[in-house]
Amino acid sequence: MLSSSFTSARRKQFSAASIALVFILVTALLAGLVARSIQTITHTADAIDDARSTAAAVGALHSLRKQLGATIRDNAFWDDAFQKVSAPETKAEWIIENWASTTADYPLYDTAVVLDAKDEVVVAYHNGEDIGNKLLDFLGNGLNEMLVAARSASKTDPIPVHFIRTSKGIALIGAATIQPSVIDNTVDSKTFHILVFAKHLTDSAVAEVSETFSIAGLTLDRAPSKTKLSVPLTDVSRRNVAYLNWPAEQPGTKSYLTVRGTLRTAAVILVLFLCAIGAVGFFTVARLRANEGRARFKAEHDALTGLLNRSGLMEKMREVSTSYSDTAAIMRLHFIDLDGFKGVNDAWGHAVGDDLIVGVANRLSKTLPKDSLIARLGGDEFAVVTVDVKTTTSSPTLGAQIQIALQRVFELGDRTIEIGASVGVASTEASAVEVGELIRRADIALYRAKALGRGITVEFEDEFDADTKAQDHLELLLRQTLAGDGIDVAYQPLVQAGSGAICGVEALARWQTPDGKRYGPDMFIPLAERSGLIDVLGMQVLTKSLAAAGGWPGISLSVNVSPLQLKNPAFVQNVLAAVASAGFDPRRLCIEITEGVLISDPEQAGRAITGLRQAGIKISLDDFGSGYASIGTLRQFGFDRMKIDRSLILALDSDDNGGAVLHATIALANALHIPVTAEGIETEEQATVLRLSGCDELQGYLFSKPVTAAELSAFYFEKSSTRIA
Ligand code: C2E
Ligand code: CA
Ligand code: CA
Repeated sequence: MLSSSFTSARRKQFSAASIALVFILVTALLAGLVARSIQTITHTADAIDDARSTAAAVGALHSLRKQLGATIRDNAFWDDAFQKVSAPETKAEWIIENWASTTADYPLYDTAVVLDAKDEVVVAYHNGEDIGNKLLDFLGNGLNEMLVAARSASKTDPIPVHFIRTSKGIALIGAATIQPSVIDNTVDSKTFHILVFAKHLTDSAVAEVSETFSIAGLTLDRAPSKTKLSVPLTDVSRRNVAYLNWPAEQPGTKSYLTVRGTLRTAAVILVLFLCAIGAVGFFTVARLRANEGRARFKAEHDALTGLLNRSGLMEKMREVSTSYSDTAAIMRLHFIDLDGFKGVNDAWGHAVGDDLIVGVANRLSKTLPKDSLIARLGGDEFAVVTVDVKTTTSSPTLGAQIQIALQRVFELGDRTIEIGASVGVASTEASAVEVGELIRRADIALYRAKALGRGITVEFEDEFDADTKAQDHLELLLRQTLAGDGIDVAYQPLVQAGSGAICGVEALARWQTPDGKRYGPDMFIPLAERSGLIDVLGMQVLTKSLAAAGGWPGISLSVNVSPLQLKNPAFVQNVLAAVASAGFDPRRLCIEITEGVLISDPEQAGRAITGLRQAGIKISLDDFGSGYASIGTLRQFGFDRMKIDRSLILALDSDDNGGAVLHATIALANALHIPVTAEGIETEEQATVLRLSGCDELQGYLFSKPVTAAELSAFYFEKSSTRIA
């Protein structure tokens, strides 16, 4: 029950933590996916645009080459030109007029060169100026490779057009053999002249490309830019001679930058949100944990003292046991029962009783070793668990220590209270503690300690178990005896102090077991009280003695009643019914009760006494002088008689003050106008003293021992007016 409520608390903590965690993880995952998608969109958009602008740049180069190639094709594969350059005298003039002079301002080319079959320069012009004598400086070695390419190309092949580095910069250069427009196989191609056109990529030319092909920021550079996009410009041998560089447009990045502020705000909100969820989860778990801690503390501790309670102690004992699993340590369980606590509660009330319990708890906590477990098991019962790591099992003195500590007076407000303690100890190996068994043993040991007269420590021994078994067996026998109406009653006469004449009898229970053993009421009455048989036993004695005393008219019948019987609400009714059914005169019946019940439960006792007295039954206070009843109590209940305890009569012989105490006790009863019986009179001296002291009835072996009903009948009829001895 307890542990299942803790399991459910654990489950709650776990689910709160998991819900928060799952929420955080899922949200973080979603945020990650969105961030990733934005990144991908950005990069893809950038890449698409990079591809577009690169394609545009490549296309622009292609278009430039195509344009120059077409110009060369138009001029080189031309019948007129072929004829004119084949005429040695006039060819230079014709070339200058048609091609070279136009280099000054013609948009399609700025350099024109014609070489003969032996690759000798015929004419070479650049920007309208003759550069024939410095052509090699101007065009460099690249020219020869172009010439080889031009000669090896057939007429149907594309015109070789490439880039070249000139002394003026980067130029597009193309070359073709000059030949008739229609292929003429009779002409030896080896005799062909070669026409070379070149067009420099001036800044304005680059700007024009930039605009035409919408490639913003286009520049012509020797090397590719690391931060920009670029395409190489290659020469006839596919060497990179220059690069067109331009900055990437990055439309994705630009779009991203426009929303970046918003995204950042969203990210901050998300992080705050997740933190809030984390914090809520954390606090929820912390709160549940604190609640669980409080509930656990409550469930395992005693509310009054804050000490462990029974289940808390059992739990802790198990924990301690596991922590000593590999050692030879000894665990000792001490059960402590306060002696006289009930009296304190009865005399001063429960508030003082509670204060005393707290005082005891504090004193135990202060006195005992720090690592001992201290518990309150309920009422006035405490328990202390210690672990002795030394392997020797030599008897510890902790029980004695506890007793000494609790014997010191307790100052509660302006009251000084003295109590004591009985202690029962059981020990076992700390590594293998069977908590239930250890508790059972300590309980038996404590019971022993109390039975042996209180104020002592008893350590459990294996024989106790046998004793307990014997007790259980006796209880069974008593039950059987009662079931068979087998309790006997002995009768002890009460005589008049003056005349010695019999005036009454006291019924005393007698028990003989089926195997013939006799037990005294001092043993079997407490056994009957413990095992709930006292009501049946009491009624059996009453019924039997009423029946017997019916045959002894004129004398009273005294019957002992246990305090426990008075607690039975049906007690008075049962007695009256028994009296009625026996046809017994209730005024001849006297019920003997002891002081204890008057103190422990005065109201209940009062009700019972009143009920009985109203029916005419007399009430006698038994064992007067052995307890603590105050004069007020004696008055309040209005007893018909008091029986002085035998201990006071015994004190006459042993104690100098004995006589004084006895006289004072009898004088007290006389002052309250209550007649007094002295019991346990064994000698004439005692009888004389008591007679003189004012006792009007005497009882004791001097007159008669308890006898059977038959024996008493014989006495009654033979010498009813004389002493029975
Ligand atoms: P009690 O009520 O004080 O009874 C008197 C006891 O003193 C009896 O012991 C009796 O035999 C004994 N006695 C009487 N005269 C003398 C004497 O001169 N010298 C000595 N040494 N003893 C004497 P008993 O019969 O053993 O009873 C013991 C106690 O058991 C009783 O004490 C009474 O408290 C209880 N008891 C006996 N019968 C019943 C019963 O039917 N019901 C209840 N509730 N208690 C009973
Ligand atoms: Ca008695
Ligand atoms: Ca008595």
